[in-house]
Amino acid sequence: MARLLIDKDLCTGCESCVPVCPFGALSMKEGIAVVDEKCTFCGACVDVCPVNAITMEKEEKAVTIDTSAFKDVWVFIEHEFGKVSGVSFELLGEGRKLANALGCKLCGMLFADPELAEGFAKEAIAYGAERVYLVESPLFKIYRTDPYAKAAVDLIRKYKPEIVLFGATTQGRDFAGTVATTLEVGLTADCTGLDIDPETKYLRQTRPAFGGNIMATILDYPNYRPQMATVRPKVFPMPERDDSRKGEIIREPLQMTEEQVRTKVLEFIRGTETVNLADAEIIVSGGRGVGGPEGFKPIRELAEVLGAAVGASRAAVDSGWISYEHQVGQTGRTVRPKIYIACGISGSIQHQAGMKTSEIIVAINKDPEAPIFKIATYGIVGDLFTVVPMLTEEFKKRLGR
Ligand SMILES: Cc1cc2nc3c(=O)[nH]c(=O)nc-3n(C[C@H](O)[C@H](O)[C@H](O)COP(=O)(O)OP(=O)(O)OC[C@H]3O[C@@H](n4cnc5c(N)ncnc54)[C@H](O)[C@@H]3O)c2cc1C
Repeated sequence: MARLLIDKDLCTGCESCVPVCPFGALSMKEGIAVVDEKCTFCGACVDVCPVNAITMEKEEKAVTIDTSAFKDVWVFIEHEFGKVSGVSFELLGEGRKLANALGCKLCGMLFADPELAEGFAKEAIAYGAERVYLVESPLFKIYRTDPYAKAAVDLIRKYKPEIVLFGATTQGRDFAGTVATTLEVGLTADCTGLDIDPETKYLRQTRPAFGGNIMATILDYPNYRPQMATVRPKVFPMPERDDSRKGEIIREPLQMTEEQVRTKVLEFIRGTETVNLADAEIIVSGGRGVGGPEGFKPIRELAEVLGAAVGASRAAVDSGWISYEHQVGQTGRTVRPKIYIACGISGSIQHQAGMKTSEIIVAINKDPEAPIFKIATYGIVGDLFTVVPMLTEEFKKRLGR
């Protein structure tokens, strides 16, 4: 715990601390600054006090927990618009390997409206969960941070999982961060690899660092449990679904009422352009080599003939030639299509981070030394404005489109 101390003898009543507090926790009383319970100990006031009258006292917590009490691998079963997100099943596939390495159970953590809950739980079991911890409530109809975090924190405190995995989706990123800060545990975001350290049995969480130039493997501090990580969709393969699998469902009540939820969802407004890169089986992507917004015309034409989605490198997005929803790579989408056709893309490490696990990579580039050829299944050295229309014509003929 921290404490904010205001030295009454030093305080000159200059009021410089009052406006800098982002939480309105400081006010003046009889010419001296006073702090109230809204203080979050962010330290903003400490930095501005010209006479050093404000100090922060931090008590280092000597944390020692019984780590042996924490067991099992949990996966957050995310759903939206009445459908479980594919990333949850991918995480169950990866979670199975971790649970096997630890000799423990693989479990799902599911919060859902009673109308949909049972079906979602059965799906999680079909993808490998041996047990599903289920909290049912109409409050879960649409994702909101408060009820989800309350349910997760209560479950985790009660059942003590060793590892909890979340999809690095919009929902998962918001939710996992809230759960981690409430439980005061670590969270490794956007992992691209997970495994168990054979000696310590800790979770090894691998993710790109320093702009994708190195891969860092992160271990949680031994006295903090559970170990928590987020993983983007399509990083891990989809496991086999087996509807004959049997599993246990453990139900817990939600200790929260609608009045206690701080957000109300008034309306959903979908983006104007819907680009479903994550689910596309074929992606045709353009990079700086397309030369401008009109350079995406042959890319779109090829994509249309193939029934593919259109992707892009960050260079093309940053140039304003195509919108961000199309960006593939470390700061864009991670994709795993059957075929990825990279046109005029050099193949930087950051672009590769989002597409290198594609089943077949076709690279079209006029520079034979371009790094993309090192990971390409098929490489075509040539001008994309000649090669791409030729491919479109040929596919039109062969596919009868
Ligand atoms: C922190 C960080 C995050 C990043 N995140 C991403 C990300 O998510 N996604 C991403 O893509 N990048 C990302 N980048 C940027 C990345 O480093 C590269 O700058 C970017 O990928 C380059 O895009 P490009 O391959 O389209 O362009 P270039 O590297 O300029 O390559 C263009 C290629 O087109 C070829 N070419 C030119 N004209 C033609 C033609 N007519 N026909 C055929 N080939 C042609 C050239 O030979 C060249 O190989 C990130 C960078 C940083 C630092």
